[in-house]
Amino acid sequence: MSNPCALPTLAAPPTETDLASLPKLEKRILRRVGGAIQTYDLISEGDRILVGLSGGKDSWALLEVLSTLQKRAPVKFQIHGITVDPGFPNFDPDRIAEVCEEIGIPHHVLGAPIDALVRQRPEEIPCIICSRLRRGILYSYARQQGFTKIALGHHLDDLLETLLLNLFFGGKLATMPVRLISDDGSNTVIRPLATCEEEDLRRFTWLKGYPIVPCGCPLCSCSVSESRRKQTKVLIAQLKENIPQIKSSMLRAMANVKGSHLLDLNLGALTAVGLDEALEKLG
Ligand code: SF4
Repeated sequence: MSNPCALPTLAAPPTETDLASLPKLEKRILRRVGGAIQTYDLISEGDRILVGLSGGKDSWALLEVLSTLQKRAPVKFQIHGITVDPGFPNFDPDRIAEVCEEIGIPHHVLGAPIDALVRQRPEEIPCIICSRLRRGILYSYARQQGFTKIALGHHLDDLLETLLLNLFFGGKLATMPVRLISDDGSNTVIRPLATCEEEDLRRFTWLKGYPIVPCGCPLCSCSVSESRRKQTKVLIAQLKENIPQIKSSMLRAMANVKGSHLLDLNLGALTAVGLDEALEKLG
């Protein structure tokens, strides 16, 4: 699912002046999504796509974009909304179902016992369990119901933050893949918003009038994972003040990896010595 912890910052309804900016914004988002779909071969003829809907801004933006492309694209595909209900008392999946009904998108809610797990161990681990559970539930449902793809609403900022989180805390260079085939080969996850900026999506969802449904998680903003993610978000924002093109440069870097200029033996570096020996020497 897209970040279930994301909350809106734009509370008041848009004015006419605000709405005048919508066509240009929509065009930019659609162009970026179209580019990602083509480059990474995200959607094929006849696809049945399960769209993860958390009720947050990113998931609504994803639904809106895919539903627009469905009407315009030469490739025929189906979309179906899916919401994992984690059981947090303040989460209201019915509101998401109502919107889907209003706009004619089939939608289904799947229950998951995440609330109980999160309250048991309020440190870093619950977020890992939470994402694993959500993923497992989505994968099984997609497999059982014959969906060919699962679309998630992660955007460029999510990818950049994940890249830095892995770099700073995980000791690896990796981010969320734009297209991922599950280990057993039975699910394909796509992230069509991977090159869209979060701020654009927040504004787009607001201008389109989608309601933001808070996830109600007691750990939002206070788990170790969330606070680390926030740290990287703040860091990028601070750097952007002096390096305005930082996000587009980081995006280009992720698509332009010089494996031989890194230290990974699997990518052709340091072929004369073994990895363990190399790491030992590096301390
Ligand atoms: S804060 Fe962690 S546990 Fe709560 S919804 Fe977000 S990922 Fe799940």
